[in-house]
Amino acid sequence: MKLSPHSSPAEPADLLIRMHNLVGAAVDVTGRNHGQASRWYCHGCGQRSEFPAVDIVSFTRRKANDHAGQCRAAYHHLHR
Ligand SMILES: [Zn+2]
Repeated sequence: MKLSPHSSPAEPADLLIRMHNLVGAAVDVTGRNHGQASRWYCHGCGQRSEFPAVDIVSFTRRKANDHAGQCRAAYHHLHR
């Protein structure tokens, strides 16, 4: 498992949960703990919350965890 500043960056200020995918890249849930104000982003493959872009944290956590359990990407060069 190789962690880099790209796949495991410094924690953002609004980080709620950091998970790791199958190869150790960070999958971050960010936003607020209340209301429909959380999102997720995978530093391994670049995938992020889809519509609705923000959701309550329990749903966002489940989606992020499902993704982290399947994703094998360590880093991407996709344009955002
Ligand atoms: Zn991913």
